[in-house]
Amino acid sequence: MREFKKSSKLDNVCYDIRGPVMDEANRMEANGIQVLKMNIGNPAPNGFFAPDEIVEDMIANIRESEGYSNSKGIFSARKAIMQYCQLKNIPNVSVDDIYTGNGVSEMISLSMQALLDNGDEVLVPAPDYPLWTACITLSGGKAVHYLCDEKSNWYPDIDDIKKKITPKTKGIVVINPNNPTGSLYPKEILEDIVQVARENELIIFADEIYDRLVMDGKKHIAIASLAPDVPTVNFNGLSKSHRVAGFRIGWMVIAGNKKPIKGFIEGVNMLSSMRLCSNVPAQSIVQTALGGYQSVDRLLEPGGRIFDQREYIYNALNSIDGISAVKPDAAFYIFPKIDTEKFSIKNDEQFAYDFLKQKNTLITHGGGFHWEKPDHFRVVFLPEIEKLKKFVENLTDFLENYHQ
Ligand code: PLP
Repeated sequence: MREFKKSSKLDNVCYDIRGPVMDEANRMEANGIQVLKMNIGNPAPNGFFAPDEIVEDMIANIRESEGYSNSKGIFSARKAIMQYCQLKNIPNVSVDDIYTGNGVSEMISLSMQALLDNGDEVLVPAPDYPLWTACITLSGGKAVHYLCDEKSNWYPDIDDIKKKITPKTKGIVVINPNNPTGSLYPKEILEDIVQVARENELIIFADEIYDRLVMDGKKHIAIASLAPDVPTVNFNGLSKSHRVAGFRIGWMVIAGNKKPIKGFIEGVNMLSSMRLCSNVPAQSIVQTALGGYQSVDRLLEPGGRIFDQREYIYNALNSIDGISAVKPDAAFYIFPKIDTEKFSIKNDEQFAYDFLKQKNTLITHGGGFHWEKPDHFRVVFLPEIEKLKKFVENLTDFLENYHQ
């Protein structure tokens, strides 16, 4: 029989969040070993449940959701997204500029497929949310990583961005609030990025899925609101803010200056039609989700789970000898630094693997986010405090004698 290999299009695609360390964790679980999982931003398994109203509305609409919808999505969902854009001062958005998708994930893939020719470059942050890099690569493009600077709250390094622009650069991805760092970018940084995009005629791809998960009274600014003259594509969804990651609902909004991107929009329309439509029952909850009372706000205040868990993990990690971490402003991720000299660490994937084998605890190594040095890892602080305590205890014990 012929052998069937995976497509060579996937050869340079690296998606480590669910990579070899995760495979070992799955093997361990299959053998009955309990693994403490600090690796995936999945709210529901950690006791963060969807508001009842959302579930009730999906049930109420299930009969009307049997057929394919308009390929971009049902009108009420797109109207609610349009109004949400108005509240965030995202300019020049009509219902027609909005595409619903099976999560932001589908829209990332679709937009990169629509835009890129072989060899085109897109600027992506390092550390990144690796799906961006994977989708750019799979579309024949090249992800060029720009640095985010840990010493400046993990803000993008504007000089590094400028240095990495070439005649082949078509766009820049901005993930704000950021996964994996939890950083929220201030207006000045966003304005600098907009200026770079303006001067170099780049499309801004703004992944803002964590915009409703901001703490400490800070406010998220949509980068598109600062760039009415620049083509912007905005990504958002309900997986995190409404704890419905499994329902699969996200969207993409084309805003700002659309004149130079008519061809790209044509490509997006073709691909949107080809996939027929996104999950229709999940579209039916968008209007309810985006209007009125926002239950997530309670989780982000002192006494709320996300706030309290962030306080705990930030203080606990910084009290471990050889570990330091910047305090996240938003989302539920922290990206601590390891003193690689102290533990003579040369390979961060090995570090994550050894930690898993010795302490049955799963983290994601920094390399999984295209971070080049072996000196970081990501912790998802969604598990309840008791589990976070266990995690910190395991890490402290592990590091006591660890050397590579
Ligand atoms: N973008 C970022 C920055 C994310 O962290 C995630 C999920 O973790 C996604 C997109 C994907 O979200 P969705 O569930 O809407 O596909």
